[in-house]
Amino acid sequence: MKYIGIDVGGTNLKAGLVDESGLILASQKMKIAQVDDRDSLAWTLVALTQDLCRAAGVGLEQVASVGVGVPGTVDVRSGSILYTCNLPLQNVPLRKLFHRYLSIPLYIENDANCAALAEYFAGAGQGSKRFVTITLGTGIGAGIIHNGKIYHGSNGMAGEVGHMTILYQGEPCPCGRRGCWERYASASALKRQTARALEENPDSILAAVVAENGGRVSGQSAFIAMRRGDRVGEQVCRQYIDYLAAGIVNLVNIFQPDTLAIGGGVSNEDDRYLLQPLRKLVEQESLPCGRDKMTKIVKAELGARAGIIGAAFLGKNKRV
Ligand SMILES: [Zn+2]
Repeated sequence: MKYIGIDVGGTNLKAGLVDESGLILASQKMKIAQVDDRDSLAWTLVALTQDLCRAAGVGLEQVASVGVGVPGTVDVRSGSILYTCNLPLQNVPLRKLFHRYLSIPLYIENDANCAALAEYFAGAGQGSKRFVTITLGTGIGAGIIHNGKIYHGSNGMAGEVGHMTILYQGEPCPCGRRGCWERYASASALKRQTARALEENPDSILAAVVAENGGRVSGQSAFIAMRRGDRVGEQVCRQYIDYLAAGIVNLVNIFQPDTLAIGGGVSNEDDRYLLQPLRKLVEQESLPCGRDKMTKIVKAELGARAGIIGAAFLGKNKRV
């Protein structure tokens, strides 16, 4: 069977037709701005499903399910979008609307959970029984997979790990609390920390690295400066990895997953500078359990494809 996966992002809507192994056979991308209300969203999903089947030469009857990943809160049972952060989509009974046009099963899920499911079936989490994926982006998204199922909590909202406090009364967070992990360890946080260090050290190698990048601070700037021997860059990276480890140690102590995968642009950094020091800190700070039972910390493997593949596999998950 084939699966359709649709990744609804803040800017783009990406869709793909995926086979059992997670290979994307056909894909399409469009601006989310072209979708202006709930009916047009449902109709767009129908049109994308038909277009992808046509492009891949696959009949609609071969499509087991359509899955949709959204950046927000969903009701997985009724297949509705409850709330999204950056999109004007609230209380949308998507499954109901979609079934007016097509009778293929439709599943809907939070996008971070989709990324975890993708890695579980086709990436870094293959063979894992207790698996956690975190994605370092504007915030920190996470998905928790337990025995092949996404862990939703009692109300579908589980996995908001970015909002665990790692610094009591620390920086304010848009969620209303202070000291949330994503204020310190997301990709955006790394950029803010780099920009601050740059301001305080205008003559550093870090400043030269940023100047070479057209004056733009990126998630890589501090790492590049560190590799060139810059003390300022090294300080930023060390501090950032400390923050990252603080949250990961909490996750390890709470869930004790066999594997924890890290995704997002920052995770592409060379292992020697990110994963190796991170693993060391996590080993030092998490509750001792013996080396062979320790959580393996690995890079997520699917990158930007995880959104489509994970959404597609929402239907696959229903059968395991
Ligand atoms: Zn928060």
